[in-house]
Amino acid sequence: MTNRRHFAKAMLAGSAIPAAAAQEVSRRTAGLPPLTIKDVRVIATSGGGNYRWIFLKIITSEPGLYGIGSGSNHYQAQAVIAALENHLKPWLIGKDPNQIEDLWQSSHLRTYWRNGPVNNNVLSAMDMALWDIKGKRAGMPVYELLGGRVRDAVPLYDHVGGKDASSAAEAVQRSMADGWRFIRVQFGAYGGGGFLPPGQGTRPEGGNAGSAFDEETYVEQVPRMLEQVRARVGMEPKLCHDVHSHLQGMNAAEFCRRVQALQMFFVEDVLAPEQIQWYRHIRQLCTTPQAVGEVFTHPFEYLPLITERLIDFVRCRVSGIGGITPAKKIATLCEAFGTRTAFQEGGENDPVNQLAAYHVDISSPGFGIQEENHFPPVVREILPGTAEIRKGYLYGSGKPGLGIDIDEAAAARFPIRIPHDGGPYRLDRGVDGSVVKP
Ligand code: MG
Repeated sequence: MTNRRHFAKAMLAGSAIPAAAAQEVSRRTAGLPPLTIKDVRVIATSGGGNYRWIFLKIITSEPGLYGIGSGSNHYQAQAVIAALENHLKPWLIGKDPNQIEDLWQSSHLRTYWRNGPVNNNVLSAMDMALWDIKGKRAGMPVYELLGGRVRDAVPLYDHVGGKDASSAAEAVQRSMADGWRFIRVQFGAYGGGGFLPPGQGTRPEGGNAGSAFDEETYVEQVPRMLEQVRARVGMEPKLCHDVHSHLQGMNAAEFCRRVQALQMFFVEDVLAPEQIQWYRHIRQLCTTPQAVGEVFTHPFEYLPLITERLIDFVRCRVSGIGGITPAKKIATLCEAFGTRTAFQEGGENDPVNQLAAYHVDISSPGFGIQEENHFPPVVREILPGTAEIRKGYLYGSGKPGLGIDIDEAAAARFPIRIPHDGGPYRLDRGVDGSVVKP
C-alpha cells in the first residue's frame, strides 16, 4: 500500500524517476545531468571504394553529444543493418548511455541466442558508440578511461607479398626502408602459396579447372620461400606469415616445425577455428609463435587457447567479438597468461573499428601488435579523425572519445552496394573441387 502511494505521488509530480533514484544517478555520474539515448541512426557507406561499412550513431539528450560505432560485416551487411534498425534501435532508445557494461550485458542476452558474427557486430556498433559518448562527455580520449597510455603509439605490421621468394624479399626491403619493423609476407595472390596453376594436376572431369589449393605443396613450398626471404633480409625485420586456415592437422604441425629456425614473429591461423585442439600438439612439437583467431566469435574459442598458453597472439577483430568492452577484457586476460593481442584490422575493415582497437592497444600491457590498414583518401572526408600511420605506428587524433567523426552527407555520396549474389566470401577450391577453409 505504502509503495503504491509513493508510486502515485511520483506520477502526480510528473517525474518518471523517483527523486531518490534520480539523486543516485546524479551521484554516480559525478554531478553530470542525467543522459538518455534520444535517437539511433544506421549509416552504411562504400567508403569511396568497395567497402560495406556499417556505422551506428547514438544521439543523446545532451545537445550535440553523440557517439559512433562500427558494426561492419562485409558478407552479411544487410542482416546487420536490419538487426540494428529493427531490433537494437527500438530497445536502445530511452536508455542511459552511461551504463556501458550493463547495456552490453543486457543486449547480449536480449537476443536470447548469443554470440555469432551478426549479434557481435550489433553489440560492437552499440558498445563503441557508447564509449565514444563517454569519452566526449569526459573530454578525454577513450584510452584515458581504459587506464591511460602504456605505450607512445601503436605498432602495426605491414602487408607485403611477391609471386616468388625473390620479389617477396624485395618487397620486405622496401617496407623496411619505409620504416616498418613488423612485416607480413605472402606469396602469390591473397591467401597465396600452395596453389596448382589452372589446368595443372589431374582434375576430375568437368570440375574445377582454375587454380587449386594443395596442402602438401604449400607445406613443401612456403617454408622454403620464407627461408630464402630470411636469408636475403636478415634477422632485423620481424616476419609474419598468414596461412589463412588452409592446413589441417599434421600438415599444420609440420609447417610450423619447418619454419621454426626462421624465428618468425608469428605464423597466423595455420588451422581453421574448427580444429583449435591441434594447437596442443603443435605446442609440444615446436616453438614457432602462433597468432590465431581472426574469425573467432565465441569466448569458448579463445579462452582455452589463452589460459592454457597454447597460442602467442589472439587475432580477434574488435567488431567481431562485440566491441571495446570485450576486447579490453581479452587484453587483460592475455596480460595475465602471457599471451598477446594482435587485433585483426586488415581487408575490408573500417576506420572506426581500427580506432577502437587502437584505444585498447595503447592502454593494454597485454598488447602485442595490430594489423595495418590503408584507406582511400576520400575516407578522411567521410570520417574525419581517421587514424594516421607513420613509419609503422598508428596515431589517433587525440580528440575526446574515439577521436573520429562521420560526415553523413559525405557518406551518403558513397552508398553501400550489395552484389546480386549477396556478396559472399570467395572460396578457394582443391584439386578435386572441394572447398578450402578460409
Ligand atoms: Mg588472417
